[in-house]
Amino acid sequence: MSTDPAHASDNPGIHRFTIGGVEAVVLSDGQRVYPLQASPIANASLEEVGAALAETDIPSGHMRVEFNALAIRTDNGWLLIDTGNGPTRFPTTGKLPARLAEAGIRPEDVTAIAISHFHPDHINGLLTRAEEPAFPKARIVGPQAEIDYWLTEKLGAEAEDPALAGHFANARRVFERIAMVRGFEEGDEIVPGVIAVSTPGHTPGHSSFEIRHGGSRLLVIGDAINQPVLYAAHPDWQPVADILKPEAVRTRRTILDACSSDGRIVIGYHFPFPGLGRLESSGEGYRFRPLTDGERSAC
Ligand SMILES: [Zn+2]
Repeated sequence: MSTDPAHASDNPGIHRFTIGGVEAVVLSDGQRVYPLQASPIANASLEEVGAALAETDIPSGHMRVEFNALAIRTDNGWLLIDTGNGPTRFPTTGKLPARLAEAGIRPEDVTAIAISHFHPDHINGLLTRAEEPAFPKARIVGPQAEIDYWLTEKLGAEAEDPALAGHFANARRVFERIAMVRGFEEGDEIVPGVIAVSTPGHTPGHSSFEIRHGGSRLLVIGDAINQPVLYAAHPDWQPVADILKPEAVRTRRTILDACSSDGRIVIGYHFPFPGLGRLESSGEGYRFRPLTDGERSAC
């Protein structure tokens, strides 16, 4: 599962912008391009998925996945939302530390980390290759419902799905090395101007984040909507990776309805880099309209 460079998208790795005057940076952890051997959607065929992807620049028969972490300046260092795949998962990912360095953010400048959910592409960057904490000064917070599900339930050992069992083992490995992860609930303010929004389904405790600064609003969607060309266009499609599929569909429809109604700017973790844009209703579903170059520097 390596990335053929010819299939990679144009992704410069970092994108600086401001939200209501507050500095922010999208940091790409890299990307993966791989042949689609089976439908990634429980209720759509490989042919239907291929037809939806045909309108993108992704080579036929392939999937491309981006990983867009976000850093926001606070009064006291930087808040990082999600941490990428870490150093060892795929040859084409694990670029977050280099991207932070390029943005002038040292590991010790990251004073808070908010995790959307405990899948490996969001938490593995919490550790270095030596399995030490990658951000020694950071207060780490995650959804309380994720902590309850992944770190305290016995389900992991009994999970029949090997991918799910692997994700349990991985979450426990990562958080064993982290001194403390504090739980947050819906509506909690992570740092001033960054509020947790419960968006369950992809995982039981999945959280999005609303950033409110100077009259601007940005919704950090996380994985509540994965690739928009699939799941915004077809809100009822159920990704195999969603743990609670009907709940994930309800969550996705709520986000799509709200964001298309008020036109707020969103950022998606797996959206085409840098992932910033608006969701608009389109036919039976919705469409992601990336911000233009002119719009992208400030929102
Ligand atoms: Zn993800």
